[in-house]
Amino acid sequence: MGNDIERAGKLILASEYVVGLTGAGISVESGIRPFRGPGGLWTEHGEPPMDGYQRFQADPKKHWEEIIKRSGVTSDFVQALESARPHPAHYALAELEELGLLKYLITQNIDNLHLAAGSKKVAEIHGNVQKLRCVACNARYERDEISLETLPPRCPRCDGIIKSDTVMFGEPIPLDVLRTCQQETRKADCMLAVGTSAFVYPAAAFPQEVKSKGGALIEFDLYETALTPLCDVSIRGKAGETLPQLVDYIKAIR
Ligand SMILES: [Zn+2]
Repeated sequence: MGNDIERAGKLILASEYVVGLTGAGISVESGIRPFRGPGGLWTEHGEPPMDGYQRFQADPKKHWEEIIKRSGVTSDFVQALESARPHPAHYALAELEELGLLKYLITQNIDNLHLAAGSKKVAEIHGNVQKLRCVACNARYERDEISLETLPPRCPRCDGIIKSDTVMFGEPIPLDVLRTCQQETRKADCMLAVGTSAFVYPAAAFPQEVKSKGGALIEFDLYETALTPLCDVSIRGKAGETLPQLVDYIKAIR
């Protein structure tokens, strides 16, 4: 394991453009339940309707009324999100960016924890639970910037309908974020996959792309994942322990 950290550290220092990809596994260590797998919200309660976005489009006012009521599963989940704090893996990734070694971070998580930890270059591919987004012009707003007096709320810039920034089932990934992820992946010659089985497209394609053009792939996960066979180094353990070890090692030899 110490040996794996050293190999990972050397690969990162030898790379030109390192991009991170994080998934639910990193959030679990902050007390946020995953959707899928053992203990997952969807495993317990069933998956949300696959046509969520179509329902929203059909009746955005009703959708907003339901959000405001915040009942059942949504309530537990939102409370967990709002009380969650970044942990050492989030801070380690922010420090790698600060050191100039991590150029960009793509996250599948909606929990805002990378930004809370100080990461600046972050693409939130499934949105951010603390933000709202105009479906017409993609402008993002903080929740308190938008009045909910009239439902559905409207975009102050273009009068489009506002929804949560989080991407619903059936909703396309916002094009601006998708383009950023694709551009960053194209530039990457090394990708760090943290707590992601890279199961959900489009994120699943990014490590494969880096690998297919000869880049390095380093995985941080408790368990073997679908990515493991592609990885140059697989570091097993809690990301909250292994990523800080990696940063310490890099700072020591740099
Ligand atoms: Zn707008």
